[in-house]
Amino acid sequence: MRDMQIYKVYPAIPESLVFLGDLARNLWWCWNDDAIDLFRRIHPGLWEKVGKNPVVFLARISTHRYEALSRDESFLGHLGRVKTRFETMSSEISRVPDLTLDSGETVAYFSMEFGLHESLPFFAGGLGILAGDHLKASSALGLPLTGIGLLFREGYFRQYLDHNGWQQETYPVIDVFDLPTRKVTRTSGEDLVIDIPGPHGIIHACVWEIRVGKIRLLLLDTNLPENPEHIRNITSRLYASHGDIRVAQEALLGIGGTRALKAMGLFPSVCHMNEGHCTFAGLERICQIMERYDLNFQSASQVCRRSTVFTTHTPVAAGHDEFDKHQVRPYIAPYAEKFDISVEELLSWGEVPGDDKNGRFSMFCFGVQFSGYINGVSQLHGKVARRMWQGLWPRRQKEEIPIFHVTNGVHINSYISRHKNGLLERYLAADWIERQSEPALVSRIDNIDDADLWHVHEMDRSNLIRKCRQLLMSQYERRNAARTLLDDVTTALDHRVLTICFARRFATYKRAGLLLKDPQRLTRLITNTDHPVQLVFAGKAHPNDNEGKDLIRRIVEFARQPAVRHRIVFLENYDINIARYMVQGCDVWLNTPRRPYEACGTSGMKAAANGGLNLSILDGWWCEGYDDTRGWRIGNGTDYDDPGYQDEVESQSLFNVLENDVIPVFYDRIRGNPPQKWVRMMKAAMKMAITDFSSDRMVREYTSRFYIPSVGNLRDLTQDSGRKAKEMALTQSRLNALWSHIRVSKPRIKPAEDFAVGDTFSVVLEVFLGELSPDEVEVQIYHGRLLGTGELEKSRAETMKLQSTIAPGTHLYGCRVVCSDSGRFGYTARVIPRGDDVLRNIPGLITWAMPDE
Ligand SMILES: *Cc1c(COP(=O)(O)O)cnc(C)c1O
Repeated sequence: MRDMQIYKVYPAIPESLVFLGDLARNLWWCWNDDAIDLFRRIHPGLWEKVGKNPVVFLARISTHRYEALSRDESFLGHLGRVKTRFETMSSEISRVPDLTLDSGETVAYFSMEFGLHESLPFFAGGLGILAGDHLKASSALGLPLTGIGLLFREGYFRQYLDHNGWQQETYPVIDVFDLPTRKVTRTSGEDLVIDIPGPHGIIHACVWEIRVGKIRLLLLDTNLPENPEHIRNITSRLYASHGDIRVAQEALLGIGGTRALKAMGLFPSVCHMNEGHCTFAGLERICQIMERYDLNFQSASQVCRRSTVFTTHTPVAAGHDEFDKHQVRPYIAPYAEKFDISVEELLSWGEVPGDDKNGRFSMFCFGVQFSGYINGVSQLHGKVARRMWQGLWPRRQKEEIPIFHVTNGVHINSYISRHKNGLLERYLAADWIERQSEPALVSRIDNIDDADLWHVHEMDRSNLIRKCRQLLMSQYERRNAARTLLDDVTTALDHRVLTICFARRFATYKRAGLLLKDPQRLTRLITNTDHPVQLVFAGKAHPNDNEGKDLIRRIVEFARQPAVRHRIVFLENYDINIARYMVQGCDVWLNTPRRPYEACGTSGMKAAANGGLNLSILDGWWCEGYDDTRGWRIGNGTDYDDPGYQDEVESQSLFNVLENDVIPVFYDRIRGNPPQKWVRMMKAAMKMAITDFSSDRMVREYTSRFYIPSVGNLRDLTQDSGRKAKEMALTQSRLNALWSHIRVSKPRIKPAEDFAVGDTFSVVLEVFLGELSPDEVEVQIYHGRLLGTGELEKSRAETMKLQSTIAPGTHLYGCRVVCSDSGRFGYTARVIPRGDDVLRNIPGLITWAMPDE
């Protein structure tokens, strides 16, 4: 069938219902209950069967049914209501007026994965969900943002378990015509195809567009007839394990993605790279800046850095993508030519400090070269990342490494249950979702009647249990399980029992087995006649991670024992759909990572928004979220050297908290009333999640701290034919060339003795700047309380004043210091560049006072 011709047949939707087709092609429907209901009511059974994919769904509805609907007044009324809201959404103006871009400009948000809905399999885990939530929140805020990713035909794998509980993987191939995608075309009408050079010839890719509310998501796809098979396969599987394909994917995403924007007439005024996979984008962006503003490479890089945001998500060095230099070379060599620098120099941008010269190419280190705004994803992760990458900024103090943090958040609308949403619409305001950033409004959660909230939550718990039974039934049927097992499933789990959920990737550091460390104690908890608990597990192990798979097997094996079988279940193929049931219906959300390996974690935020109480190690976001009025901690945030011992201690601590705190509070019912303290904690958790851990807050934070300053920088540096960009480039090359001559003498105190609180003293020192002038540098005294370890605590840098020039190139600096506290203090001095943060943070440009001869 080589020369097969293709024609398409679309469902004959009557005129009055055409909006259904528009709605199906904008993911806005998936976080709006009224829109979901509109689809579902057409054919509830089919809706579930097609995995809530409206494109497939509408194609399967019979003409007969459409005709009936077009005469159904109540359906048309419902459709009209959704349509009005959809149109209002589309025409609404921005809620972040401080970010204004000219037409043809956009914030470009790059990510290897996007988790938007279970019917779009372009994500593997938290990173993707976060990217999806970023788009959804940007839509609500009216941010001029465009998402860029890849369209994977096989996506990430589907998980099922064999008879022994061992994970199996399948990669079902999706049909793009089942997705709400539209091919991007040129104005001439032909498909847009972009090219990037690869090691074995040109890589061609077409571009698909998906609408996410007001936001466009562009997905590149190499599955084109003009590509040979190995190139067509570049976009087959998310996170291909073969290094060559991985490099190709990342080059396609970064370079191809930026080219696609240009081909569509869009310029990325701000570039946001979500994790190191997309950092090749910097190369192409510099090129585009060179062209657009007629600048050379050095000046264009100044612009690029000051308008690029780079978010890192991985708290272990080994978790960052690294390639062999020879794998990267073919993709970046053309840029060396354009930039007029050597390929070796460009390759050196990816070197890990301290690594040998011919070593590896790190996508993180490469990304840093383009980015003036670098951030981790929780407060703790920011700190860990600063420590981890200290080597990139030699001679800098840890706390001054320019990596900040923006704590992740979740798209509340996508994860809050419809029952709870209804409650909030009643007690807060009908439009509370749009006003979720108003603390006064959110605090009205306290006014919710306890019985109302408890009742609604019990419905969500029941929904979860019903879903579990349904999923278990199909799991068992597929395995041809015995009749008795199938019968048991219909009574698995209990609607009144304290329900603990654990759902996440089965990576070893997440320690899903912490509860199994003491199986007897766990069995006692589960089988307690008065105050039992039940457990729902879900999660995938990476296909190459046998340790993770073994954890799943052990849980399944434990859950098979007749004594506990009715109260512990493992759900296959964890995805957004299952996540929704779990976060909405759980009483307790359990998280047991080995600190500090959980960069942030977001599932616990989704649970909290639904009144689920977190029981977690103090890691990632929970360090910021924890407070004993709204959840529990396991351990107290200690860092251990011996992981075996740590597991032992923390597993016992977990059981202690469950037995002494969690279970008694849940079952504290006076005359059958809701558990009072528990409900109070639920409310506190909901307020916390909505106020502090929503993607609305997160995107606002990215906007005010990074996007708006980036746009300002771009305008400032490029006006007057790029005068400032050129100046900055000159400054930087002067500093780089002359910095090594700088010498700083040891600062001297006058008078040289001890002091009482309130005294002041003056410090003077000599600085040799050579050809650099005092206007180009800042001389600082650096002082703080001296610790027993010889390190300084709470250190501060203060600018010293130029007092006189004592010889050509040699200057005297001084300042006064007030003794505000008693104790032992240390001080020294240093020179750094004067200028904005990017200049001040250029690696290597820092000179400390000379040590004693
Ligand atoms: C929210 C979510 C995640 C991320 O949650 P973690 O807490 O980081 O594990 C992963 N997968 C799905 C399906 C989710 O909904």
